[in-house]
Amino acid sequence: MAIKKATHPYHPVHHDTFVKKFMQHEGQHPDKHPDCKFCQLAKDRKNILFENPHIIVVFGRLHHKGHLVILTRAHEEELMRLHEKTLDSFFNDSVHVCKALHKAIKFDRLNLEYLDNWDPHIHWNVYPRFRTDDDWGNPPRIPEKDEKVAPKEMTKQEMKVFLKELKNI
Ligand SMILES: [Zn+2]
Repeated sequence: MAIKKATHPYHPVHHDTFVKKFMQHEGQHPDKHPDCKFCQLAKDRKNILFENPHIIVVFGRLHHKGHLVILTRAHEEELMRLHEKTLDSFFNDSVHVCKALHKAIKFDRLNLEYLDNWDPHIHWNVYPRFRTDDDWGNPPRIPEKDEKVAPKEMTKQEMKVFLKELKNI
C-alpha cells in the first residue's frame, strides 16, 4: 500500500513562523530555552539538511554512513506530550527522509533508535545499515562519547541526490 504523503506546509520555514503557527504548549516554546543547544540549532539554522515546522534533520556523528538525527523543533522531552501534528511529522516525515536517504546511498537495512535518556528534544537516530558493516546483523555499535571516530562521509554525488530528494518532501 502506498504511503500517503503528509500535507504540512514545508521547507523552508522560518523559525518565527513555526513558533507563531504551531507552538501550543508554552513549555515547548523554543524561545523559552536559550541555553538549549537544540533550540539554538533551530534558530541558527546551520547545518540543517531538512526542516519543517515540526522536525529538523542534521547529520549525526557519522560512525555509520548516512547517520542522521531527526529531532523535534519543540523543546519537549516526553514523546507523549508532543503536539499531534508534531507526532505525525516525527513519524511520517521521518520515513520520507529515510526514503530520500535510501535513494542516495542504497542502504540494505535501516535502524531507527529512539531512547529518550537525557536530551531535551525528542529525536531519532537513523542508522543506515550495509551488509559490509562490521556490526551487520546486530544493533549498531555506538562509539563512546569521547571516542574519536573517522566520519563516514557521503560522496558529493550521494549528497546531491539526497538534498534533491529532501526538497521533494
Ligand atoms: Zn530546546
